[in-house]
Amino acid sequence: MYKRIVLKLSGEALAGEKKGVTFDDSIIWGLIAQIKAVMAKGTQVSLVIGGGNFWRGRSADSKMDRTKADQIGMLATVMNAIYVADAFRQNGIKAFVQTPIVIGTMTEQFSKESALAHLEKGEVVIFAAGMGHPFFSTDTITALRGAELDVDGLFFAKSIDGVYDDDPATNPNAKKIDCIRAEDIVKNNLKVIDMAAANLCFERKIPVIIFGLNEENSIMRAVGGEKIGTIVTV
Ligand code: UDP
Repeated sequence: MYKRIVLKLSGEALAGEKKGVTFDDSIIWGLIAQIKAVMAKGTQVSLVIGGGNFWRGRSADSKMDRTKADQIGMLATVMNAIYVADAFRQNGIKAFVQTPIVIGTMTEQFSKESALAHLEKGEVVIFAAGMGHPFFSTDTITALRGAELDVDGLFFAKSIDGVYDDDPATNPNAKKIDCIRAEDIVKNNLKVIDMAAANLCFERKIPVIIFGLNEENSIMRAVGGEKIGTIVTV
């Protein structure tokens, strides 16, 4: 039973399979129903949502200044967080968006104390705008907020159902790894989560669970302790 977690969803998860759609409400409401069930069992849930359904800095045209491209990426995560926070409201749960940069009255500025106060009240906090700096990813902020808030697990919901020993898209014999040490991710430079995030989890001893978002009730099952996906031990 996890007391407090950070759950990372990619931006693409919000769009689902539909082409040309930024938000698919049937998917988002399904995610919220699972998060509600997890919270009802006593787990405090904070979220990091990516921005890939709008924009990714690293995929921008190479002529573009990467700093500017990443700024757009960070703002994309803010739009996603505002949308999902409102979807939580429509489902009877208060959710607050916190950012490390000031975005006027649209979001709260992140502070450990206020984030914890929301979580203690049974509210959701969504961390948006990443680290507030370019050249980082939403994986890194997931690990950083997890470390700051003393969470007992980081949950990465991915389009793939865990970590493989090779790319399953190109190698049909690639095998899923059930358990891997954070130390080995760092040592072998495995592209499971980004290196800065893996280092922090390793250093702060925060377990990481990487699982497939598209499997039935996977958030509830992973947070409930079922052995799905890949567990990164520390
Ligand atoms: N980003 C950034 N700094 C951060 C976090 C994110 O510059 O600390 C930018 C970066 O351009 C990234 C984009 O925000 O591509 C969206 O985040 P991410 O690619 O992690 O989203 P996802 O792929 O999970 O949807």
